[in-house]
Amino acid sequence: NSDVLVQMASSGVHVSPACRRMMAYDRRLEPCVGERVPYVIVYGMPGVPLIQLVRRPTEVLQDPSLRLNATYYITKQILPPLARMFQLIGVDVFSWYQELPRVQKSCTSAAGVREPSERKGTISQYFTTLHCPVCDQLTQLGVCARCRAEPQRVVVTLHQDMRQWESQQEQLLKICRNCSGCVERQVPCTSLDCPVLYKLSRVTRQLNKAPYLRQLLEQF
Ligand SMILES: [Zn+2]
Ligand SMILES: [Zn+2]
Repeated sequence: NSDVLVQMASSGVHVSPACRRMMAYDRRLEPCVGERVPYVIVYGMPGVPLIQLVRRPTEVLQDPSLRLNATYYITKQILPPLARMFQLIGVDVFSWYQELPRVQKSCTSAAGVREPSERKGTISQYFTTLHCPVCDQLTQLGVCARCRAEPQRVVVTLHQDMRQWESQQEQLLKICRNCSGCVERQVPCTSLDCPVLYKLSRVTRQLNKAPYLRQLLEQF
């Protein structure tokens, strides 16, 4: 196996970090020469080498603690070609990007910092969420103090959110069932080319918060 890797490397075939990671999982997953291996870069603790931030797309879809590394994709994939174009008219895209104001999302967990697995999927995992589910402001009170002053708005907003996620999920499942041609869908669609897959995964993540939100609602 390592011979093949050496061969691939020496013959100039790009061995992506994802390949090595996949092989660490299961040596049979070793890709054939020339096979394209889909991988994505996720957020991690600062200073963690890039190779530790490489994940398979399915992994990111399944693990809610993993977030796609937008900074990586902006600075490494999008900005360089833009910079080459804008250079012609004397615009420095990189310094423009540096000057952009950005919203610092509190990162409750990231690659490399794993929460104990027994806490996964339980309500306690959401207590580490620092954003008010109503207004998205940082708070440690669950629902922030400002929103607590308007309990009716809290109740309406949270119920509305949950209803919306449920109907979105239902609609997406309907599309997926049509697309995959199975009415009794026993096998979930896992096609990485299916745009519904990502939307469905996002809405399912949101729906996973519903038990926590219902618990919050008991206070109102
Ligand atoms: Zn709030
Ligand atoms: Zn699908």
